[in-house]
Amino acid sequence: MELGIDVIAAFVAVTVAVVAFALWSMRRQELAMREQLDAVEAAEAEVRRLLDELPEAVLLLDLDGLVLSTNAAALAMFDLGRRELVDTHLVDLASGEDQVSLAAGLQRAYEGDDVDPIQIEMHAANRRRVLVEASFHLPRHTVAGDDRRLVVRLRDVSEREQQVRALDQARRRFQQAFQSAPTGMALVRVDDGRIVDANQSLAEMLRRQVHDLVGCTLREFTHPDDVRAAQPHRARLELGIVDSFRIDQRYRRRDGEYVWARTRVSAAEDDGVMLAITHIEDVTEQRRAAEQLRYAARHDELTGLPNRAYLMHILHDRLATAELGEVAVLFVDLDHFKTINDSLGHEVGDQLLQTVADRLRSALRDHDLLARFGGDEFIVVMKGEPIDVAERLRKAIHPPVIIGDHELFITASIGYSTNHEPGMSPNDLMRDADAAMYRAKARGRDCHEAYEAGGFESGVQALRTSGELRRGIERGEVVPYYQPIVDLASGRVLGYEVLSRWLHPDRGLLPPNDYLPLAEETGVLIELGTRMLRDSLAQLAQWRAVGHPFANCFLSVNVGTRQLVDPAFAEIVVDALAESGIDADSLWLEITETALLSDVKSATVALRELRSLGLHLSVDDFGTGYSSLTYLKRFPIEAIKIDKSFVAGLGIESDDTTIVEAVVRLGQSLGLSVVAEGLESPLQLSRLRDLGCDRGQGYLFGRPRPASLIERERAGV
Ligand code: C2E
Ligand code: CA
Ligand code: CA
Repeated sequence: MELGIDVIAAFVAVTVAVVAFALWSMRRQELAMREQLDAVEAAEAEVRRLLDELPEAVLLLDLDGLVLSTNAAALAMFDLGRRELVDTHLVDLASGEDQVSLAAGLQRAYEGDDVDPIQIEMHAANRRRVLVEASFHLPRHTVAGDDRRLVVRLRDVSEREQQVRALDQARRRFQQAFQSAPTGMALVRVDDGRIVDANQSLAEMLRRQVHDLVGCTLREFTHPDDVRAAQPHRARLELGIVDSFRIDQRYRRRDGEYVWARTRVSAAEDDGVMLAITHIEDVTEQRRAAEQLRYAARHDELTGLPNRAYLMHILHDRLATAELGEVAVLFVDLDHFKTINDSLGHEVGDQLLQTVADRLRSALRDHDLLARFGGDEFIVVMKGEPIDVAERLRKAIHPPVIIGDHELFITASIGYSTNHEPGMSPNDLMRDADAAMYRAKARGRDCHEAYEAGGFESGVQALRTSGELRRGIERGEVVPYYQPIVDLASGRVLGYEVLSRWLHPDRGLLPPNDYLPLAEETGVLIELGTRMLRDSLAQLAQWRAVGHPFANCFLSVNVGTRQLVDPAFAEIVVDALAESGIDADSLWLEITETALLSDVKSATVALRELRSLGLHLSVDDFGTGYSSLTYLKRFPIEAIKIDKSFVAGLGIESDDTTIVEAVVRLGQSLGLSVVAEGLESPLQLSRLRDLGCDRGQGYLFGRPRPASLIERERAGV
């Protein structure tokens, strides 16, 4: 049989075509599959990359707990390569007992339970321990059977745990520090102020139990005066404007006493509650020390009274708010204090000042201020009219002061002023009261004077210049004037009282009141007195030398307190007598009652010595001091001079008449002669004669005059 070539060729061609087609389409399928595979691979890589980027470790486990796959974080956590981690039992990586809890967690998760994350410790290859929180996921599409898978996520919580532990530790430490702190501490709720906890130190400070404090508020123990001061601070703390503050306040102890405490409060939050951590430090001692320092700076050590600086401060405050004339200042200056201080010593002087301070204080009302201005000067600041107070103070000082075996009589000169002009400063007011005080001195001491505008110029200015007075004495400007002392029965001039006068080159003739107070205060009096004694005795010697008719008279010379207590005084007298050649019998010394009584003991000694020289002693200004029979008897005196203030009222004021009468009787009974001073009228003269008074002195018989005038007058007689 014959197959045609063509058929064969056609068959071959078809076959080739079919095969080619088959091959082509196989190739196409292959290409398509490859594309699909590529896509899957790409997707898988994408998922892996995403997984690797997760910060948590993610592991896929099989039913046995073998690791099937994992992400980069897991490798890093366990410090293993992928190959090493895969096929490892996850449970083996947990440490100790945590293996059991992990295994249990896995088991329950496989069974489909919802398992809460558990915290376990695992270890990495490098032995590092990692604290993880493990959570389990059973993928939905996994069906029961061998190919069950479980996803485990592990979160590294080491750091968080460390923080929690550190916080715990800090809490414990705080508790420890809190409980054992040497300063008082309390934790206080900011909202209601209640004490949540308090430590032992605080309990001890307040003499209370810790459990008594808890639940209370600090305010309950705070001094009522301090409660208000703390309020704004607390408010600011509560509002978060500040986070701490410090305040000093007093807390009441259980026994009722108060402690000063420095309280430092700082806010802190604890579990959402605002707490005030309160440090309370007992500063009572500190405060006391500071208080003492402040007190010392403001008070006079000797008397405990406010000192000058503090006085000026208070006065400043009072003046700032006072109405015109409302604030009064009294300037109290002791008379002859310097003399006592110099002659008896500072200790006696100090005691005397203390006594005077006490007396002044008790004569004042509570709201009057008493201060020591310095030396023997005291200041009273008060409200209203000062005259009654001045009198009360003057009298309060009077009673004799016994110090050791000294019996001292002290008086004060008091000047006062009010803020009589608008805008007066403390200094203005003090200056006015001071000027008034000098006027009181000038009036004879132991009295009070109000400030008078203008009075300042004349008297006080003259008084202030002790240097000038001293120079005046040296230059012979201070001279003796002579006033006759008359025998009342016969009218005969028996002698002359020597009274000083200052012939001031600018101011003219000055009476003793203008310069004597200053002389007494400054000690110039000794020079002045010596001068008067020598000049007048020399004068008498001269009269006797030329044989004046009155030359056989006596001289009566005034002696100031300061002179009397001057240990050199007797010698001065002896010298003056010797120099002039005058016999002691022609000399009388007049000593004021106040001088005698300012220090009875010293005065007695001095008088005895003087009397032993053969001269005569009289008590001057009798009746103005603290006349007492006892003293008169004790002193070797021969005469008393009734003060002119009593003589002035003779026959007019019945009181004065009685006093003069009594003094005359007293003198007679003690064998003393009585001299009436200030005799101005014939009526007074006849009265005194009736009473039996021995001698008299006054303008009626003659004013004090210079020697030249006496000579001329008497020459004519
Ligand atoms: P005194 O010792 O009481 O002297 C009497 C004062 O009365 C004198 O004041 C005298 O001038 C004044 N006087 C005399 N007669 C009358 C009168 O009839 N009416 C009035 N109203 N006054 C009369 P003077 O001279 O101003 O002396 C005042 C005081 O100064 C004296 O008071 C005396 O205590 C003191 N004094 C005067 N000179 C000295 C002195 O040299 N030494 C001392 N220590 N004191 C002296
Ligand atoms: Ca006299
Ligand atoms: Ca007198």
